[in-house]
Amino acid sequence: MKFEQQVNNQYTDEAVTTSFFDWLKSFSLQDLFSSHNHSDDFNGSRAEYITVRVRLLAFIFAVLAPLWIPIDYFILPEGDFVSFLLLRLAFTAFFLLLGFWSSGPHNLFLARLRLVFFLAIPSLFYIASRCILGESIQDEGAMIGYSFLPYLLAVFMAIFPLTLLEGVAYAVLIGITFVSCEFYLGNLFTLVVLGDVWLLGLLAGIAVWAQLAQLYMLLRLYREATRDVLTGLVNRRVLTKWLDLEILRTREEKRPLSILLFDLDRFKRINDTYGHLTGDHVLQTFARILESEFVNSKYIGRYGGEEFLAILPEQNEEEAMAAAERVRIACHDNPLQTADGKVIKFSVSIGVAELRPEENADALLLRVDKGLYHAKESGRDLVARSA
Ligand code: GH3
Ligand code: MG
Ligand code: MG
Repeated sequence: MKFEQQVNNQYTDEAVTTSFFDWLKSFSLQDLFSSHNHSDDFNGSRAEYITVRVRLLAFIFAVLAPLWIPIDYFILPEGDFVSFLLLRLAFTAFFLLLGFWSSGPHNLFLARLRLVFFLAIPSLFYIASRCILGESIQDEGAMIGYSFLPYLLAVFMAIFPLTLLEGVAYAVLIGITFVSCEFYLGNLFTLVVLGDVWLLGLLAGIAVWAQLAQLYMLLRLYREATRDVLTGLVNRRVLTKWLDLEILRTREEKRPLSILLFDLDRFKRINDTYGHLTGDHVLQTFARILESEFVNSKYIGRYGGEEFLAILPEQNEEEAMAAAERVRIACHDNPLQTADGKVIKFSVSIGVAELRPEENADALLLRVDKGLYHAKESGRDLVARSA
């Protein structure tokens, strides 16, 4: 089941949530486990979130690393200072590159790659510094500062909203760096190092927990910002964004795109006759009709009030007219049945428009609105294409 549909379920479940267990049931753990069911739009938002944080941290690390050079000078054995100076300069240069690396639209693959670099740069620094300093780190208290990088990384990972799979994968990367380094130096099976591994695991576990909590918050906020609470469909903000993106794709791939604008007929009268609550139920009934008529298209939403919009990529005007006609008939076949046995009939008028080569989203929406107006003028309960 796709993320969008799960959100709809969550919407209905939330309304009757009474206990912690109901809440737990209503929330899909799959969404925290992996990004498999996340929508492209949510992935884009999360990628942006991760990217901004990686870039910010990259700049902070790039500034902090050279500040340690005077400390190196006083603490390190004379022969090691120059090697460390070069290491720190390389560390700063790589972090500057990571900070300045900007890429086009936010993409989860690139965001994950940034995180790999964010871990790889300090990890390589750590391996190199351990090899240069060898045993002396454990011997001298002042040099402890050179061995805590893996712990620092494990803790920093807590600021990213990651799924369980991602969090564990990054924690394993940090763990492998640490363990293989100690193995290479022949220290792995000492009590001190085994204690360090345990501590690192503990910190990574707490970080993964924090990552999941952040992902959960982000999913919740995203849902609240993009969903219409009454029908569970996406809101106008998302529809407009999707339409802009689909128009771009349509142009690139040279294929048709049509949109449908629905407006329930004499809806004010339904409210006035049966009350607003019944009016709300009619809107929900119509939303379910749209979902069942457009099972394979996620591009439907509430445009405002009693108006809904469907974006039909790859469909020409004739196909869109046929889809609109199916929805119109489905409204006749599925009147609202109230709890007290009343049957409330409703109908819909629908405007249809296919994208023209010179048009942008605003022009297309204006034209589909004209089609809808024409359907209303011609008597309602009709489908009309715009001139
Ligand atoms: P027409 O056939 O010309 O579209 O007539 P209409 O009555 O549907 O259109 P009009 O624009 O006059 O009225 C729309 C009504 O929709 C008015 C408003 O109260 C109602 N409405 C908008 N949003 C909601 C909602 O969330 N719930 C309920 N119950 N009513 C709503
Ligand atoms: Mg209206
Ligand atoms: Mg209306």
